[in-house]
Amino acid sequence: MSVFEAINTEIGGSEKFWKFDQRQNFQETFKNKVYQKSKSGILKEVNLSLCQNYLVKVGPNSVNKKTLLDWKIVEPFIEDNGQNARFGFSIGHLSWSKDFYVENQETLDTWIQHLSTVGIMMDFENDFSIIKELGNGAFGTVYLAESNDTAELYAVKSISKHDITANPANLANLINEIKFMRKLDHPNIVKLHYVYENQTNIYLVIDYVGGGDLFKRIIKRKVYSEEHIAKFAQKLLDVLIYLNSFNIVHRDLKLENILMVSEENDYDFKLTDFGLAAEATEGLSLRCGSPGYIAPEILRKNLYDSKVDVFSAGVIFYILFSGRMPFPGRNAQEILLRNRDCKISFLHQQNLSKLAMTFILRLTEPIANLRPSVKEALNDPWFEKQLNSAASQNHLVSKIGKFQACRKIMGNIS
Ligand code: ADP
Ligand code: MG
Repeated sequence: MSVFEAINTEIGGSEKFWKFDQRQNFQETFKNKVYQKSKSGILKEVNLSLCQNYLVKVGPNSVNKKTLLDWKIVEPFIEDNGQNARFGFSIGHLSWSKDFYVENQETLDTWIQHLSTVGIMMDFENDFSIIKELGNGAFGTVYLAESNDTAELYAVKSISKHDITANPANLANLINEIKFMRKLDHPNIVKLHYVYENQTNIYLVIDYVGGGDLFKRIIKRKVYSEEHIAKFAQKLLDVLIYLNSFNIVHRDLKLENILMVSEENDYDFKLTDFGLAAEATEGLSLRCGSPGYIAPEILRKNLYDSKVDVFSAGVIFYILFSGRMPFPGRNAQEILLRNRDCKISFLHQQNLSKLAMTFILRLTEPIANLRPSVKEALNDPWFEKQLNSAASQNHLVSKIGKFQACRKIMGNIS
């Protein structure tokens, strides 16, 4: 059974596959000849088109019916009675799926190509070959995989359905992750191409970003120039402006969720892992994040908003400057205590410029109201100096390896 089946009826608000819609101005993405079987088994042409994430069926007298494709299973099929083959695809779930027939294999492939970007696909093993493991997170394992069709490389995040069904909050996270990633289209955010589901797992097929995550990059580097930090910081804050425009809070900004594009420079990256992301329309209250990066208002159990991402960005910049965690500890508990107290020391960063220090202190301000917005952070004088001056200081990065990568936690942070 699909883990998405439960939310399907919730989202549709009805058990019915089709819903009436009188609109004429659907934005059509794709259209092609399609047939449906009548009760007597005869194929009848239907006027079907894909309109973004809706399938729209135009009936006589322009009575339109539509169905939302998000969370619905899309499955191609071939019926072969030995004499001739019929090609088609079904949409929906076991109890309420609909079959659509097309003229040939080629048309079917084109339909599936379009539908796969909005629905949930089934046959992962047939479409992709796993090459190796890339990384491990709290909610899944990420693999490098090759498309069997195009030989293109992708990263595939595999999530166990057992973990998803064991805890409703995990399902909610997965839904958010898919929903937000499908909405976002930005050069510094990994793109979600397809979602697959089989008996045991969910697979998110995303851009493969080959330069390793920022945690590994910092361990490898002996120096990180202030100019590169400035270029990186500006890009990360630009991504936050973009997320703000969709009212999305990431809530898990940290080194391991920032993927470096190449070995050639230390500032081109793609942000990933929207597993804890949330809509920031009202005051948020769920206590979550990764110890060492969490805005104190979350740990103090206050309501919070998108400014928590500004705080985590400040922590990331501190690490880039110093190679140290601002809130070190031998275990998660110790780290969380220091994280909540939020006392940042620059004892080990004597060569850090005053401007850089002030910039980090502003972003990691413990009181959210006094912390700058992303826009204000982007106007910090440190940027102007760094991006306009040729002289760039180097900073030693050597202590980070002593600390473990931070696991994310959802709820119950004490
Ligand atoms: P989790 O939600 O379990 O933390 P992530 O999406 O953060 O999962 O992925 C875990 C790790 O896998 C990352 O820290 C990174 O090292 C690696 N990884 C994730 N996505 C990609 C990708 N698109 N390309 C390359 N490596 C990736
Ligand atoms: Mg992660």
